[in-house]
Amino acid sequence: MKGRFAPSPTGHIHLGNVWIALLSYLSVKQQHGTFLVRMEDIDIQRSKRELGEQLLDDLEWLGFEWDEGPRIGGAHGPYWQSERYDYYEKTLAQWESVGFVYPCFCNRARIQSIASAPHRGEIPHLYDGHCRHLSLADIKEQWTQKEPSWRIKVEDRTIEFMDRWQGLQTRVLRSEVDDFVVKRGDGMFAYNLAVTLDDVAMGVTEIVRGADLLDTTAQQMYLYSLLGESPVHYGHAPLLIDVEGHRLSKRQKSITIKELRESGYSSERILGELCKQCDLVMKDELLSHGTITLCELVERARNSELMSVDTLFRDEIVVRN
Ligand code: GLU
Ligand code: ZN
Repeated sequence: MKGRFAPSPTGHIHLGNVWIALLSYLSVKQQHGTFLVRMEDIDIQRSKRELGEQLLDDLEWLGFEWDEGPRIGGAHGPYWQSERYDYYEKTLAQWESVGFVYPCFCNRARIQSIASAPHRGEIPHLYDGHCRHLSLADIKEQWTQKEPSWRIKVEDRTIEFMDRWQGLQTRVLRSEVDDFVVKRGDGMFAYNLAVTLDDVAMGVTEIVRGADLLDTTAQQMYLYSLLGESPVHYGHAPLLIDVEGHRLSKRQKSITIKELRESGYSSERILGELCKQCDLVMKDELLSHGTITLCELVERARNSELMSVDTLFRDEIVVRN
């Protein structure tokens, strides 16, 4: 099996990211699989190379070792999405030639009005398929005015999958997904496109990530079906929140690994605290000194001395200061 951690370098890595990296890593180690790191830096406005490098420094400092990824390479690189545009472009061109995608010229105002004003008795559309039916002449004409976005032609069917932590999931594509954008008019590739093409190309078989991404899975599974690939195992883990109920990522500043390190925390202490807060190791045998190394955690995971990661069932996990 192969699992991965796929952060977006848009800020400093924080406890919420480490939590996800940790679950993904331990799950891979428990199964004696391959662990891959991929930098999801397609959003050129928000991602920065230096932040990516720092993120990798932080991961290394915490003790993570990856079998494939940035800095070490591997058979499926490059591992920075910003270096993979050719591949996304080629796939889109191929999909265009078989009619899986179409150009959309709708402006934001039109799309907002579809979603907010459904006809009486109808399920609201996220997108009404307006540009699916443009004539070739119309397309040519509109292209002279505006660079289109690209949408996937989504069939009306239901997607089901079993999530490791969230249970059985059912999504009706017609009402919950609709024809979605895979490339924006400004040239930016959509997360759903890049993540799916890369997970397939890199041979990923298990996806562990935050529960905030649960609703993107139906789109991604639809793309798997277009590629003729069978879907992978999914686990959308409960997110960490602080005592006031905020998602940790929203208050990055106070809990970045960089700041914790600079204020004297060791990596063993950070991991120990995280495990304690999240009941990741058996309570009674918990580390009296409150520290643990990643190597020890992997040992425990392999000997099942670790509270199974599968027993995390809460929606959210509160982290106290
Ligand atoms: N890059 C995404 C993020 O940092 C995660 C992608 C994924 O795990 O599917 O939110
Ligand atoms: Zn359109």
